[in-house]
Order: sequence, then structure tokens, then C-alpha cells
Amino acid sequence: MPIDFAATKAQFHLPEGVVYLDGNSLGPMVLTAPARVERAVTQEWGELLIRGWNKAGWMAQPRALGDRIARLIGAEAGTVVLGDTLSIKVYQALASALEMNPKRRVILSDTGNFPSDLYMAEGLCRTLGGQYRLKTVAPEEAMAAIDDTVAVVMLTEVDYRTGRRHHMADITRRAHEMGAITVWDLAHSAGALPVDLAGAKADFAVGCTYKYLNSGPGGPAFIYVAPRHAATARPALSGWLGHEAPFAFDLSYRPGQGIERMRVGTPPVLQMAALEAALEVWEGIDLAEVHAQSLRLQDQFIRGVESRAPMLQLATPRSHQMRGSQVSFRHPEGYAIMQALIAEGVIGDFRAPDILRFGFTPLYIDEDDVARAVSVLARIMDYGTWDKPEFKQRAAVT
Ligand SMILES: *Cc1c(COP(=O)(O)O)cnc(C)c1O
Repeated sequence: MPIDFAATKAQFHLPEGVVYLDGNSLGPMVLTAPARVERAVTQEWGELLIRGWNKAGWMAQPRALGDRIARLIGAEAGTVVLGDTLSIKVYQALASALEMNPKRRVILSDTGNFPSDLYMAEGLCRTLGGQYRLKTVAPEEAMAAIDDTVAVVMLTEVDYRTGRRHHMADITRRAHEMGAITVWDLAHSAGALPVDLAGAKADFAVGCTYKYLNSGPGGPAFIYVAPRHAATARPALSGWLGHEAPFAFDLSYRPGQGIERMRVGTPPVLQMAALEAALEVWEGIDLAEVHAQSLRLQDQFIRGVESRAPMLQLATPRSHQMRGSQVSFRHPEGYAIMQALIAEGVIGDFRAPDILRFGFTPLYIDEDDVARAVSVLARIMDYGTWDKPEFKQRAAVT
């Protein structure tokens, strides 16, 4: 059955007068989240106290929700677990992947990757005593740069700035041919487009839940380990909850079964309650259809902006095959233009140095929203209303 996008939109709280084109940074609240979180606070924490770990299923939640996310990213059941933040999960996956390829010393990534992923890789190289090296190439050169010196190919499938998409299956195949392990970051993929980790034979993957999966600010990250590696991958962050028997309180570490070993410490129970509510919306939803609708909305936006605000320059590839779920335009005054848009209720975000970024999330964005965003943007450009001191004052978070 085709998705009823009006019905999915009705499941979200969207503030009056707002067109929200920033679900790629922080997804909106589902209407059921406050009651679910309140239940976790008052009934579970309040009444059950420590008994909540067993009686409310808190301890099992990272795996249970992991299985629900697995379906959205083409992962086998039992291969995904939640916890920590994405930066931590990048570090964890990368450390395990490097250990699996001990004769090689190069981590390959691209210059379109999110800085935190690159910083984590640099930090890990330093911790390992400087024998390892992070090599970054332009995104379009990533495939060709995979040679027999590369230990790990670490890429984000969809570029956070431009929305350009890597071909996961082809790059993974090439990496394996050259004897490299892959770590895929799905920050801008999970809940945005169909991902087929099992089909692509990805080795490790990580992602966050507060973007397209709408778990709320600070929602936990997830990590995937392919079943063929799950029993041998050694967890670098060997916390007690990744231990084979956490409550044996042994003095030395033994990794837990399969994906359990990628747990570190106490899970964020209240955040997971919000995530649980948010994941309800995805029941029965086909990601291929979500992405196809997103591409239609993106095309509507691109056509509108190019005809009515031609001074903005498209930064996103035109090819549908090479796109994620966002559209970006460049303009030297991008920051001020975005502030002027936000002041009129059209919320996107700005990414330095000159990118205006708009996410198209069909579960709660429709054609009327896109039309309104185009006309507000066109008006701001026609009248130069962005050119005010108040719009040029940089806030801490852009
Ligand atoms: C959003 C994002 C992050 C953020 O990491 P956190 O630890 O959750 O703050 C990291 N990597 C990529 C590719 C992202 O898009």
C-alpha cells in the first residue's frame, strides 16, 4: 500500500507557522513522545526505581530498539545496538576494524566527511602511537584511492554539506577486493533512504537517531557489525556492559556475545523512551518510497529556487542516484540569508563557509511546505531583507 503521507505528517508536532527543513539535523517530535517519556520518568523511574532495569526492560532496550533500526538499514536481526554518541561509535568501529587488518596502516576517508569522524580517526591514530595515518581524498576520488595499503575505508554515505551520495555497494566491493574493511557512517542515510547493509556486505556501520529517526536532542547512536565479524571483532571501548557477564563483576574483560560487545556503559533510558515512540512512525514504512517522495520534493525546490532566486548556486548533484535527502545551495551571504529565512518560519541550516542546507523529509513535509519555502526565499532575495546586522550575528550553533 502506498504511504499515506498526510497520515504520517499528522503524527508529528510541528510548531504553527513553521516549515521545518532541518530534520536532517534534528528531527521533530512525534506526538506520542511526551507521554512515553513521562511514563519512563514517573512510572518506570519514579515507581520502579532500580527494578526498572529488569521490570521495564531498560537493560534490553539497546538491543530491542537496535533490531527495529536494523530493518530500516537492511541489517540482519541481532546486529545493531544502541548507545553513546555517533562520534564514540565511529571511534569504536574504526578501532575494531583496524585491529582486524593488522598489517596495514592507512585509514582512507574523504574531505566531505563530517569533521568529528575525521577528528576521531586522527585521535585514534595518535593513541595507537603514530604508526597509523588518516588519508583524505576528494569524495569523487575515494573509490580510486582504495589500494592495497588501505586498512579501513571510513566514509559517510551521504555528505552532510552537499547531500552527495556514495555508492555503498560498489565502494564496499572495491574495498574487499583490495583487502580493506569498511566503516560506513549512516548519519544522513538512516531513515532517509533505503540502505542495504547486508546486501552491500558492509563490515561496520554507525549512525545517529536524532536526525531522520527523530529521537530528540541527545538521542543515542547505533552501531552495526556484520554477523561474520561479530564474534571476533574486538571492542576497543571495553566497558562493563559489553562484558560477557557484566554482573559477574570479573576483574578482567571478556567480550560479550556478538553485537552485545559493542555496548559500553549505562544506556540513556529516557532518550530511548523518546526513540521508542519515534520508531512507531516507521512501522510498515518503505524507505524506497520515502526517498522517491523526497526526491520529488527536492526537485520541486530546486526548480523553484533556480527560477526565482538564480543568484543561489546548487551544491547538490542533479543526478537522483547521487543524492540523499537534502538540497544545498551556496551563497557568500548564506548565513544571513538562513537567519532571515528562519525569522520567517522557514527553518533550514547553514554550514560554513557558504552552504544553505534544506532537508526534505516526506513523513512531515509536503508540496505546500516546499512551495512556501521557495516563495519566502525568493522574497528575501528580491528585497535583500537578509542584509541586516541582526542576521549577521553568529550564534553558537548554526
Ligand atoms: C551528525 C553527525 C555526527 C555527530 O556526531 P555526534 O557524536 O552525535 O555529535 C557525526 N558524524 C556525522 C557524519 C554526522 O552527520
